[in-house]
Parts: sequence; structure tokens; C-alpha cells
Amino acid sequence: MHMKNYILLIPFMVIFNTCAQNEPGNSSITDQSEVMDKVIKTEEEWREQLSPLQYKIMRKKGTERPFTGKYYDFFEKGHYECAACGQILFDSNSKFHSGCGWPSFSEPFSNKNLNFHKDTSHGMIRTEVTCSRCDAHLGHIFNDGPPPTGLRYCINSAALKFVPQK
Ligand code: FE
Repeated sequence: MHMKNYILLIPFMVIFNTCAQNEPGNSSITDQSEVMDKVIKTEEEWREQLSPLQYKIMRKKGTERPFTGKYYDFFEKGHYECAACGQILFDSNSKFHSGCGWPSFSEPFSNKNLNFHKDTSHGMIRTEVTCSRCDAHLGHIFNDGPPPTGLRYCINSAALKFVPQK
């Protein structure tokens, strides 16, 4: 298969893998502990915890305006956590300057910490990225990232919390 086509398939391969793990009867002790670690809150609780912008993005799949977030032009050493539940999502080593106006990463800290969904809203076919622990919307994946992954994880600043390297 042509290399570029193979790269395009990666997010969808992850989706199928995730679906397989969630099939009834396929659970194990490991799966149970992952389920117990889930953060589940009511809409009211999320509204209280998050800022209005964070709530709009993370619970209602909104998008911050480009070039307005605090991390789009920010390149300190450290890692980025989910602003809603604290799960680690990205390392600063994978962050790159894309010029698109949102924080851009070439790979996640771990595929386990993200979930991927086909998003056909706004007349586009995109892959949506959510936090696997609290299901918060984070952003989308595009196929115009740098090697070796060729992917660009385009993430809202408001969905992230930066933690500096010690
Ligand atoms: Fe989260």
C-alpha cells in the first residue's frame, strides 16, 4: 500500500481497536479498572467546574477562535493534561508550530488516553479527538502533520492544562 494511504488509515485503525475492546464479553480485569477510572459528571457539575469557554468546547464540541488560545504559540518543556480531568494527553516534545492558530501535536502521549470518532459536521469528514477518561471534546486530527506520523492533532488551548517539566 502507498505510504500516504497507510498514514490516513491510522486514526481509523485506532477506532476499530477501541471498539473491539468495548465489545460485551471482551472485558478483563484491566478493562474493569479503566472503567472505574472514568470521570462521569452531570452537565451541571461540568458547568460549575469549567469556564464558560471550556464548557462550550469540552462538553458542547465548540472551537476557540484561532490565534486566541494561550498555547498556540507556546513551546515550553513539559506536558499537557486534560483541563477537565487531569489525564495526561500530550508531551511538549510532540508539539510543533503549524501556523494554524491552535496547539498542534504530531502524536499523543498514549493512544489509550484519547478516543477517536468520525465527525461529519460542518460539511467535512474529520476525526474528532476526545479524552478517554472524561469524554471531553479536545479537537480534531488532520493528515498534514510532520514525519514520522504525518498527523496533526489540532487541539483547543482551553481544553489543555500545561504542566512544566521539573
Ligand atoms: Fe479528561
